[in-house]
Amino acid sequence: MRLRNKPWAKDFMAQHPDVLILDEERPKVDWQQEFGNEHPIHIEVGTGKGQFIIGMALANPEINYIGIELFDNVIVSALEKVIEMDKPKNLRLLRANGANLTELFQEGQVDRVYLNFSDPWPKTRHAKRRLTHESFLQRYETVLRKNGEIHFKTDNRKLFEYSLTSMSAYKMKLQFVSLDLHADMPEDNIMTEYEEKFSAKGMPIYRLEAQFCE
Ligand code: SAM
Repeated sequence: MRLRNKPWAKDFMAQHPDVLILDEERPKVDWQQEFGNEHPIHIEVGTGKGQFIIGMALANPEINYIGIELFDNVIVSALEKVIEMDKPKNLRLLRANGANLTELFQEGQVDRVYLNFSDPWPKTRHAKRRLTHESFLQRYETVLRKNGEIHFKTDNRKLFEYSLTSMSAYKMKLQFVSLDLHADMPEDNIMTEYEEKFSAKGMPIYRLEAQFCE
């Protein structure tokens, strides 16, 4: 993701606290109170410019969605889109590091984790930064309810192979694996920005669903 400096980002973000939450300002959000209901919570770690999480929130009003993104300069683009869509009530953006998930959610509070086109970090010495590294799987397992799931899409074959191995070593149950998601496009597939970009170039999209087991 190219990071363009946006000097107006901080002020713009501060103007929309009803949609965008900054981790340092509200480290312990009561998510049920925030949404005003007890609907299931699905999160996307590395939400980027928000196309996927906004599409999901509009398609599934009975689920609460939280798009988590590390960078101000990226999440403001998601915020602009959320405003354009009249701020769906079941959607929040959270500017935070996915490495801090266990400080942002209570144990078992999340029903599903989405990872879409996560940064591949190809160098072995950076493996710990991959969002499917064992240390991240531990965090997801902590915040997810019993038998919670991860749904993961990527264009990056090496990251996909790594993730299959990492999840298998973690004794997760693989429930669905596709090596070419778009060959038989599921009707309910919501495309991310990166998915549109890579599939337009004819690249296959890999997808898996995996469940934590007791
Ligand atoms: N999911 C979007 C898509 O599919 O179009 C964006 C994909 S982009 C390659 C990956 C995004 O993940 C970037 O915006 C990056 O800033 C964010 N990211 C990477 N590591 C993160 C972390 N530890 N916590 C939160 N966001 C992260």
